Amino acid sequence: MTAKIFRFLDDVRPATPCVVVDLDVVRENYLNLRHWLPLAQVYYAVKANPAPEIVSLLVGLGSNFDVASRPEIELCLNAGATADRISFGNTIKKKSDIAFAYDKGVRLFAFDSEAELDKLAEAAPGARVFCRILMTCEGAEWPLSRKFGCEIDMARDLLVAARDRGLEPYGVSFHVGSQQTDLAQWDVAVGKTAMLFTALNEAGIQLKMVNLGGGLPARYRTDVPSLDRYADAMMHAMTKHFGNDLPAMIIEPGRGLVGDAGILETEVVLISRKSYGEDVRWVYLDVGKFGGLAETMDESIKYRIETGHDGEQTGPVILAGPTCDSADILYEKAGYQMPLSLAVGDRVRILTTGAYTTSYSAVNFNGFEPLKAYFV
Ligand SMILES: *Cc1c(COP(=O)(O)O)cnc(C)c1O
Repeated sequence: MTAKIFRFLDDVRPATPCVVVDLDVVRENYLNLRHWLPLAQVYYAVKANPAPEIVSLLVGLGSNFDVASRPEIELCLNAGATADRISFGNTIKKKSDIAFAYDKGVRLFAFDSEAELDKLAEAAPGARVFCRILMTCEGAEWPLSRKFGCEIDMARDLLVAARDRGLEPYGVSFHVGSQQTDLAQWDVAVGKTAMLFTALNEAGIQLKMVNLGGGLPARYRTDVPSLDRYADAMMHAMTKHFGNDLPAMIIEPGRGLVGDAGILETEVVLISRKSYGEDVRWVYLDVGKFGGLAETMDESIKYRIETGHDGEQTGPVILAGPTCDSADILYEKAGYQMPLSLAVGDRVRILTTGAYTTSYSAVNFNGFEPLKAYFV
């Protein structure tokens, strides 16, 4: 699927580090998702890769957008998305940004607290709001727990309060954790959501929408279930807990749409050892935690890495970035091995880097340029 990227890298030999994104893969991922989950409306989580090329492609394919900030709203509008295709899904918004969104015509907002509801009632009167509930994010390689969502008894009260403040209590959202490989997590989440629907029914409020969040995986070092199994798990959970009377469904994929579409090319800057008689080589690349590989934090996301010497004898390595910050170590404990013949100046390819790389790259730390991206 990424032959186009390999051809580009071989022909153009762009300066490293850079990410090359194959837009055909994004298109295919989007169409596959529509195929397997036809009842859910797709809201692309823009933060995964906010490149205008990707957003425009998805506008053309009919996608909607989950945004977290004013610049992300402007990006989607500039790419041709109308405001009714935008959901302001961040639960932590400035009132001025809510007002901006509302002024542009956005009418769908997330919240998980009373103070946020107050802001929404003032700056987005009458808008549709959905409450995010707390999840444990067990099984996720990049958990989004604790910071977002509230317990369901609080969510019930907040959705009632939303009505009392003149907003439209529209639905419930959750995020089971990013790179989630435990399919049972959607059953837990949808179960809680259905309880909340029932509790609100008793308060005279008919919620209309379930937002199934993100969590769809990309293919890193370990294998993941196929997309149809995720879709099955979600639909099974929905019909189990809601029966035939299904509410509207939203899904907000980020990583699952764009992760597999990118390859990052980097160069080996230095290979060294810290003492005589030590096996482990330190391999320093020209990209690190601050240049786009932030998700190696705690060695959470384990990228597949290819070199031009693959198949030859390997030895253990510690992989690190080029900056003068000791936090800039990519993998120390994850057991990475690289060919013994790897040399300074060699190019190395880090696969599945279409999501959460360019958007996490520092602008000028240590003078290094932000991660450059190409689209093919
Ligand atoms: C980041 C985010 C997503 C995307 O999550 P993925 O696991 O990358 O699919 C979806 N919804 C919200 C609200 C988010 O913040």
